[in-house]
Amino acid sequence: MKKILFASSETHPLIKTGGLADVAGSLPIALTSLGQDVRIIMPNYQSIKNCEPGRYLCTVRVNNADVNLLETHLPDSEVIVWLVDFPALFNQPGNPYNDESGNPWPDIGDRFALFCRIVTEVAMNRAYLDWKPDVVHCNDWQTGLVPALLSLEENRPATVFTIHNMAYQGVFPSSAYTQLNLPGQLWHPDGLEYHGMLSFIKGGLSFSDWITTVSPTYAQEIQTPEFGYGLEGLLAHRQHTLSGIINGIDLTVWNPESDQKIAQTYTVRTLNKKVLNKTALQARLGLPVSADLPLFGLIGRLVDQKGIDLVLNCLKEMAKMPLQFALLGSGDTSIQVRLQDFARLYPDKFSITIGYDENLAHQIEAGADMFLMPSRFEPCGLNQMYSQRYGTLPIVRKTGGLADTVVDALPDTIQDGTASGFVFSEAVPGALMETIKRALVLHANRPLWQKLQRNAMGKDFSWENSANQYLALYRAI
Ligand code: ADP
Repeated sequence: MKKILFASSETHPLIKTGGLADVAGSLPIALTSLGQDVRIIMPNYQSIKNCEPGRYLCTVRVNNADVNLLETHLPDSEVIVWLVDFPALFNQPGNPYNDESGNPWPDIGDRFALFCRIVTEVAMNRAYLDWKPDVVHCNDWQTGLVPALLSLEENRPATVFTIHNMAYQGVFPSSAYTQLNLPGQLWHPDGLEYHGMLSFIKGGLSFSDWITTVSPTYAQEIQTPEFGYGLEGLLAHRQHTLSGIINGIDLTVWNPESDQKIAQTYTVRTLNKKVLNKTALQARLGLPVSADLPLFGLIGRLVDQKGIDLVLNCLKEMAKMPLQFALLGSGDTSIQVRLQDFARLYPDKFSITIGYDENLAHQIEAGADMFLMPSRFEPCGLNQMYSQRYGTLPIVRKTGGLADTVVDALPDTIQDGTASGFVFSEAVPGALMETIKRALVLHANRPLWQKLQRNAMGKDFSWENSANQYLALYRAI
C-alpha cells in the first residue's frame, strides 16, 4: 500500500472551476478502491460546500504564520481531505483564483506560496499528523513550489507533478521572490527563475521526480514551442521522466443506461431507442422533428482553444446540406453573436443555446448522432469521451487527448473493430468540412454506423483504468 498526499487547489464537489477539480475529486477515490491510502490537501476557501465542516487537527507555523489544519472527507467516501485554514488569505468570497467580480486575487502568490509551505510540512511529517506519505502528487502551478521546497529536504517523499494546462504558469515579478521569503538556493535558471521572474510551475517541472500530463499526445506536444509556452526546452530535457495519463470520466453521471436527465435511457443492446432522445431534443430546441436527419452536437466554452472558428467557417456550407446542428456553450461575445446570426438565418438547421445547462448537455450527448470537437489544443478533453459512451460519434482534431481517445473510422480500423469516430489533422475549415462529409457518408450506412456506435460505447474510460496507471507510476518512482 502506498501513502499518497494529493495536493490540489480545487476538488469537486467541494469547489470547482475546471477539470482539475474533477480529477482531484475522482482519482483519490479510485486509488482508494485500489487499496491505497490517499489524503487530499487543499486550501480552506470560504465557498467550500458539500462536505462536513472541518474538524480542527493542529496548528503549524510556517514563515511566521500560524496555520490550522482541519479534517473533512469527500462526500460519500472514506477519502480524507485536509483543509489548510488561514482565514486572512482564504476566508473570502470568490473562487480560488478570482474575487467575486472575476478579478485575479492581488495576493494570489502569497496564497499558494503559503499553501505549498504547508503541503511541504505535511509531506515531511512535521505537522503532528503521524502520517508520512511515500508520494506527494502535485497539480498545476498552485502546487509548483512543493517539489522545489522538498528538494532541499533529506528523506523526502517522491514527487509527481501533473500539468492540466500549460497555459497557466504562475509567473510573478522577481520582487515576489524576496517578499515570499523563498530559499535563495532555488533562485537560478534551472530552478524557480524564469527570465528574471519567479515561476511557480517551474518548481514542479524542474524538481519533481516525475512529470505527468493528462494525455500522452499532450505530453509530446508541450515539448514544442506551439504548446510549451516558453517551457518546451525544459520539458524536452525531461522527456524521459514525462508521460501522459488520460483522465477517466464519471461513469455514474455519464451513463446512457441510467441517465435521468435524458428522455429515454438506452444501452448498446437497445441502441434503436437512442433516436427518441434525438426527437425529444429537436422538439425542445424547436428544430424540425426528424428521426433521419443527421444531427450534430457541440458543447463547450466558446473560446479560441475549442476551434469554434472552424465550425463557424463551415456553417454556410452545412446549411445547404440535409442535417441539423445543436450547440450549447458560452464564452467570447463575438463568437456568440456570429453563431446566433447563423441560427437566425437558418432556424430549421441550427440551434444555438448560449449559457451553461447541465441537463441540456446530457440531452445533446444522448440525442445527437455526431459530436463536433475541433479543438486547436486539448490537454485531455471530456466531451469526446462522454459522446462515445452515448454512441454519439465524435469528430475531433488530432491533438492532445482527442488524438488519444478517438480512433478514426478508416477501412482497417473499421475492419478490426476499433473505429469510434472521425479524426482530422489540419486546423483549417476545409479539413473539418471534409470530415463532416465523410461522417455523413458512413451515417447513411445504418449497419455500419451501429457497428461504430457499439465500438465507441464499449470503450473503457473508467477512473479505475487511469488510477492503475498512476499507481504503477507511484511504484516505479
Ligand atoms: P474544458 O475543461 O477545456 O472546458 P472539457 O471537454 O475537458 O473542456 O470539459 C468541459 C466540461 O464542461 C464538460 O463536462 C462539458 O460538458 C461541460 N460544459 C462546458 N460548457 C458547458 C455548457 N455551456 N453547459 C453545460 N456543460 C458545459
